[in-house]
Amino acid sequence: MKNLWNDGEAEKLVSEYAKKGVDRDLALRVYTTRLLGGEPRLVLHGGGNTSLKTKATDILGEEWDVLCVKGSGWDMAVIEPAGLPAVKLDSLLKARRLDMLSDEDMVAMQRANLIDPSSPNPSIETLLHAFLPHKFVDHTHSTAILALVDQDDSERLCRKVFGDRMGFVPYIKPGFDLAKAAADIYDADPSVEGLILDKHGIFTFAESAREAYELMIRYVTMAEDYVAQNGKQPFTPVSLPGELASPAEIASMLRGAVAVDKGEGRFDRMVSEFRTSDAILEFANAENADDLSKRGVSTPDLSIRIKTGPMVLPAPEKSKLSAYRKVIEERIADFSTRYRKYFETNDARDDVSRTMLDPMPRLTFVQGLGLFGHGRTLKEAKIAADVGEMLIDAIRGAESIGSFSPLPLSDLFELEYWSLEQAKIAANKPKPLTGQVALVTGGAGAIGAATAKLFAAQGAHVVVVDLNGEKAKAVAKEAGNGSIGVAADVTDPASVRAAFDEAVETFGGLDILVSNAGAAWEGKIGEIDDALLRRSFELNFFAHQTAAQNAVRIFKEQGTGGVLLFNASKQAVNPGANFGAYGLPKAATLFLSRQYALEYGPLGIRSNAVNADRIRSGLLTDEMVASRSKARGLSEKDYMSGNLLGQEVRAEHVAQAFLHHALAERTTADVTTVDGGNMAAALR
Ligand code: ZN
Repeated sequence: MKNLWNDGEAEKLVSEYAKKGVDRDLALRVYTTRLLGGEPRLVLHGGGNTSLKTKATDILGEEWDVLCVKGSGWDMAVIEPAGLPAVKLDSLLKARRLDMLSDEDMVAMQRANLIDPSSPNPSIETLLHAFLPHKFVDHTHSTAILALVDQDDSERLCRKVFGDRMGFVPYIKPGFDLAKAAADIYDADPSVEGLILDKHGIFTFAESAREAYELMIRYVTMAEDYVAQNGKQPFTPVSLPGELASPAEIASMLRGAVAVDKGEGRFDRMVSEFRTSDAILEFANAENADDLSKRGVSTPDLSIRIKTGPMVLPAPEKSKLSAYRKVIEERIADFSTRYRKYFETNDARDDVSRTMLDPMPRLTFVQGLGLFGHGRTLKEAKIAADVGEMLIDAIRGAESIGSFSPLPLSDLFELEYWSLEQAKIAANKPKPLTGQVALVTGGAGAIGAATAKLFAAQGAHVVVVDLNGEKAKAVAKEAGNGSIGVAADVTDPASVRAAFDEAVETFGGLDILVSNAGAAWEGKIGEIDDALLRRSFELNFFAHQTAAQNAVRIFKEQGTGGVLLFNASKQAVNPGANFGAYGLPKAATLFLSRQYALEYGPLGIRSNAVNADRIRSGLLTDEMVASRSKARGLSEKDYMSGNLLGQEVRAEHVAQAFLHHALAERTTADVTTVDGGNMAAALR
């Protein structure tokens, strides 16, 4: 592993922080923490931490010996001094005298000794850092080290590779007990330059930031070299079918299968992140990939991300896609049955009351294709995929020098169902549309943009589709939550198909369609140009049908219901003079909404329409508002609020109606009116 220490960079950071009153030691602590955190083969999503023993002054001006240790929630790659909260060292050291200390008491004690009480929680490995005497302590979950410790004879192997330069600590769950055991092993031979933690990772320590970091790199490199020099080709590939299905062709089936069925037509859905690479395929295509996946995870804190390990699916043959659904369902059933058994067996070992987490995989390898990370949010799905890539790096190393033998599932359970982790999960309340994917056409217009933003704020990942791709991207960016903008012409079926494919490729599937794109042409119906009327039907009717067909295709693949929402105008029920070209196709679209409700209700697919009027948008431009209000002798304000409520109706109000329809579980074939009240357009 490359040593990234750079004197110039280090000094630059020291002088930058000096201006902010941060001393040299802490600045260098930040510097090497970032170096470690930037390398996924060392540290991934919380899997590592660092500390510094120094002095800090409290609010009363009193100076204390403190441990500045990585705070929970901070990413080491971009850490700041605030991410290394200072804890009074003397109190931490006193804890070593105790015979036992519960996790909750440990957290409380650490918090009680913070110099700044508003700091994040110090790492769960804080006491281990405190009990070691060195000024700088570094800890990582290096995949090369894991290749050595995830072996049956890991201790012998570590002695062979590192000699007596490293202490060896048997596996103990992180916390007080591990901290004491590690400190005892260090005390027995203080000449060691670090500690290897069986089935877990590595600590190095020194009096300078540079030295502790360089020791980490040195020992990780020794492990890498050992694997490279003594390794054999670890995987035998399976033979793959001649023509494989594409990832997008199986993504929605897989996404539907990993959704948690809550009964009564409700699902906790997940989104998927697909990845592939030579390394991913080498593992996925291994004959024993399934066996390796069932053994566990390379370092126990990965269980918080990917539970007991990945699921493996056989290669999908293009010509046998319909039979593949059954294969997915069988593998999921097998995974969840084993997960339930794992929970029940281990939960029964004590009197602690626990709630089983959902039994669905968070990581799926598909032979011939790559991996899918699954998560309730895109962020979680990406983390699962990141973790998957590092998991197979460790497995590859372990298998090439021996046999991957990680922590047994019974010990893993302790970590996955750790009270501290369960509390974090409980605090993470989902939003109403968490896990759902929505596609909005006409997404750059006023109503489309307002809907995209509202849905994203409610937890959905939104695919903003518009003829103007740049504007669509801008709306998606503003909506946030990983939403994407896609350029598409809704009147071109191939273009529409491509937009839906992009939704599936990015998020794994689709749950809600907001078919909103439309435009109005004026003209007396008896005299209107035939081509113009047909053009209006293309956009205001057929485009809705094309979008709905694509959505239903994906909904059926997923098997978890879905929602179709149509923007039908007031014109659909209450024709206005000279608006026939607009009202006629919109009336057909209103009927279309009901036809879908009728034919797809049995599959849990709901279909509703919103009937809006007089909204400033692409349809009703500012110039039109000005000329119409003038023609009626009204101020613009009086014209726009010419309804029963006497209030202007805005795009946000239409978005609210779409959201209502997306959430109303027992509402289908409905039309909701958003016009401030207009008796002539009221439905009856
Ligand atoms: Zn650790």
